[in-house]
Amino acid sequence: MAREPVVYYFPLMTPRSVVLPASCAVGSGSGEPLTARQYSEPPHAYRSPFQRDRARIIHSRAFRRLAGKTQVFTHGYSDHYRSRLTHTIEVTQLARTIATALGLNGDLTESLALVHDIGHPPFGHAGERALDEAMRAHGLRFDHNLHALRIVTSFEQRYVAFPGLNLTLGVREGIIKHSRDYDPGEHPELAEYFLDQQPPLEAQLIDLADEIAYLAADFDDGLSSGILDLAHVRAHVALFERYYSPMETKHPDAVSERLIDECLKRMLNALTSDLIMRTAEEVAEAGVVDLAEVRRATRRLVALSSEMEALRREAKQYLGRHLYESDAVTPEHQRAQHIITSLFECWVRDPSLLPANCASALALEGAPRTVADYIAGMTDPFLLAQYKKYETLCES
Ligand code: MG
Repeated sequence: MAREPVVYYFPLMTPRSVVLPASCAVGSGSGEPLTARQYSEPPHAYRSPFQRDRARIIHSRAFRRLAGKTQVFTHGYSDHYRSRLTHTIEVTQLARTIATALGLNGDLTESLALVHDIGHPPFGHAGERALDEAMRAHGLRFDHNLHALRIVTSFEQRYVAFPGLNLTLGVREGIIKHSRDYDPGEHPELAEYFLDQQPPLEAQLIDLADEIAYLAADFDDGLSSGILDLAHVRAHVALFERYYSPMETKHPDAVSERLIDECLKRMLNALTSDLIMRTAEEVAEAGVVDLAEVRRATRRLVALSSEMEALRREAKQYLGRHLYESDAVTPEHQRAQHIITSLFECWVRDPSLLPANCASALALEGAPRTVADYIAGMTDPFLLAQYKKYETLCES
């Protein structure tokens, strides 16, 4: 029997109907303030500053290490699940779609999406929590956005003339501001990043592109791992059921795996389309016509509609309870936290165990910060190998 063709996209809009005033986008031309670099370099013959940043990020060691870092499922769980690298690529394609539909700067958006998780330690949020708690004991904090800034301005060594990747001001600002705001009083070292102003729309959209990408991805990986139960998800996640149920009615003979695929595709498309439409409305309602007004606005303008936002939150809370904090993954996360805490304390007690190239950081920053930076850069497998090497010392 011939299968009925499936309609993939909602004929919601034409790109023309949602494009923002052109001057709301960050400019790439020479002399644009956000294209400034820390150390001056001659312009490239045919690549814009943000295209060059994209290349610098992709060619960095920290970017390659994302392949070995946990998103939700730890390395080795299954070959099919997302790593932080594949998550990053998914965020990038979503972010680029949103930027294009809104007429924003696609190259800046792409660079920001590619770099957005570069500061994440091994073992996902469990790793970040463990590092932050270990640092608090020394009156310090670990923050993945600030760590990402340190990676691109200092730890990456690719040039004779300067440390770091010498990224544009626009990308450095976006790195620290894509997901949260920093108090200028608490962070005088970030003064050049316009902390009293909103970030450009290209940076604002990364946070929601990230949320949308991992929402769909984590239902996908959670269901295919068997940790999430399809009937339970359908009964408790209205956003999922909204797109699953019509597919089931339309294709009663299809296996549930394909219906899940069809449902998640529609869910992703609906969230992305809603974000594009609502952001265009927010900008219009705020009367914002250029970047200066985006920056002066009293709130961030990239948003989902209130209905979609409520559905997204419910779905995210469900993942929190039934996947991120489930009995299936919790023991693994607890073990990861134990390993990070043990190694941190072991190396802070005896920094001579650290590699020789940590010497200047130790002298400049002290042991806790140097050890946190060292651990944060590791992949999951490298961290486990280090623990194996130092386990006896750690646990003594
Ligand atoms: Mg992310």
